[in-house]
Amino acid sequence: MSHRYKCILLFGAPGSGKGTQGKILGQVPGFFHLACGDVFRSLDLASPLGKKFMTHSSKGELVPDELTVEMWQQNMKAQVALSIFKPAQDLLVLDGIPRTVSQAKALQNYIDVLAVLHLICPDQKEMVRRMRRRALKENRLDDADEKVIHHRFDVYRNETEPVLSYYPANIIHEVPATESPSMVLMSVLDLVAPIQDHHFKNPLTL
Ligand code: ADP
Repeated sequence: MSHRYKCILLFGAPGSGKGTQGKILGQVPGFFHLACGDVFRSLDLASPLGKKFMTHSSKGELVPDELTVEMWQQNMKAQVALSIFKPAQDLLVLDGIPRTVSQAKALQNYIDVLAVLHLICPDQKEMVRRMRRRALKENRLDDADEKVIHHRFDVYRNETEPVLSYYPANIIHEVPATESPSMVLMSVLDLVAPIQDHHFKNPLTL
């Protein structure tokens, strides 16, 4: 199964900071960050898939599994074909996928999950505040409406949290995510830097 992409998963409720940490990690040589939500948002919203994404995300619902996995596979293939993601050199950092147990099963043949970083922010009000700020900055419909935000938390609890039990407990790491991005980053790097170092050569000396 050596053809599977070695990867770590950034896991956590909406607003827990997965995207913030993922984007920073993606800047570090030897890491490649892919956020499923970003891939959806980059679609042509007039295309059939783009329309489907808008219909679901604007209500705070997940896009159906089959479509999501298909889109993810196509995107990964393209990133590899264009040598943007180099599986032999880069540790893949996935954010926002898998978001259901069925997605986790579908991805099993493609990814070798070395660690799951569960970003924990016990203060739901703080997460909502972060999302509302993001809505203003990034023009995100799914973050603008309080009802939609609360529905996303329900969907997270019902459909996404069970994904944690799909992976062995010894690869799941809880990361306190209430502090500033740089403090959270210290905990994230503490966990992922040794994994990257163990599995890949120094990307700057290749
Ligand atoms: P957040 O960072 O707040 O968790 P994302 O940007 O990851 O939000 O996702 C935004 C929306 O995109 C989700 O609410 C959902 O509608 C859709 N989406 C993203 N990833 C997935 C996925 N793996 N499966 C289904 N839908 C997804």
